[in-house]
Amino acid sequence: PSGSEPAAKIVINLERLQQLPADKAGPLARYAAAIQSQRGDYNGKVLSIRNEDLRSLAIIYDMTPGDLSEQLVEWGVLPPEARLSRED
Ligand code: C2E
Ligand code: C2E
Ligand code: C2E
Repeated sequence: PSGSEPAAKIVINLERLQQLPADKAGPLARYAAAIQSQRGDYNGKVLSIRNEDLRSLAIIYDMTPGDLSEQLVEWGVLPPEARLSRED
């Protein structure tokens, strides 16, 4: 899927993620924990994830990748420059 990549790298704020209620952030928190486990990357304050993983997460949240990235920015989990362009 070239030509539709976000401008910025997707870097999740793990401290912020921990502060969110589990009913909202639960699926993302479990996904991030799985990636940390697969990488053996446990003590970071942030986690860079794959563009492809944002698409998988959008399916889990039943949102478009663009709307999910917007939601994550509103939650403070992603920085504002991580917003996807709306055609996603
Ligand atoms: P894999 O996809 O076969 O990747 C093997 C190794 O290649 C990774 O080991 C990492 O050292 C390197 N690698 C692959 N893609 C990238 C990349 O985009 N950037 C960087 N910096 N390195 C990359 P690692 O990190 O120990 O991960 C082991 C396995 O855990 C990966 O095997 C993959 O199956 C899974 N994994 C790790 N991180 C992610 C992730 O963010 N998303 C997904 N879907 N799987 C991940
Ligand atoms: P950067 O990508 O802007 O990341 C800045 C800092 O954010 C990193 O400093 C690290 O403390 C944190 N960080 C970002 N993503 C992750 C993550 O998935 N897990 C953890 N635990 N921390 C993360 P650091 O490690 O000193 O790296 C400095 C710079 O070196 C990075 O800036 C990047 O430009 C480069 N770098 C480090 N590791 C990789 C890598 O695996 N792949 C690539 N392409 N560049 C890397
Ligand atoms: P990065 O390491 O700076 O990699 C930037 C982009 O280069 C990746 O975007 C991917 O398109 C490509 N790339 C880098 N290494 C590999 C590789 O070994 N195989 C392939 N097929 N492509 C590679 P992407 O996938 O969106 O990942 C964004 C960031 O997420 C990466 O930045 C890295 O910080 C992190 N990441 C992704 N997968 C892994 C992984 O398996 N292990 C680790 N440690 N970090 C990963």
